Amino acid sequence: MSMDEAKITALIQRSRDAMEFAYCPYSKFPVGAALLTTDGTVFTGSNVENASYGLTVCAERTAIWKAVTEGHKRYQALAISTNMDDWASPCGACRQVMLEFGKDYPVYLSKPDLSYVKMTPIELLPLGFSPEMLHEFQENDNENSNENGIENHKTDK
Ligand SMILES: [Zn+2]
Repeated sequence: MSMDEAKITALIQRSRDAMEFAYCPYSKFPVGAALLTTDGTVFTGSNVENASYGLTVCAERTAIWKAVTEGHKRYQALAISTNMDDWASPCGACRQVMLEFGKDYPVYLSKPDLSYVKMTPIELLPLGFSPEMLHEFQENDNENSNENGIENHKTDK
């Protein structure tokens, strides 16, 4: 499903708008994300920091978890915004979570002027661990001992 420029810009703008709700008193680095589902619903997210630091959650995962927990697991696109004069690049944890729900939907890494680069989850996380790998393992596991299943899983790749 391809998106025209107006739709892409609108989604990026939604991600920028979501930065307003970032809770980032420690980093002072607001991030916004906007996730467009296949049925046209948009879920936004912002980073939510914590005094423990380690419990901080990124904007991208906030948006995805909001969508999943309201029954939306198929996505048309994700847009990400920051105030950096560089592409809003997701962290490794978010790349893994994006890949869980598809390898090929567009992810727009934007700049404040709404320019963007388009990537996909598998481009952002090459050779990433995906749900299909677990399914393959479980299929192998039915025919082999657990140990052999692990061995097959490794050598098949
Ligand atoms: Zn992240």
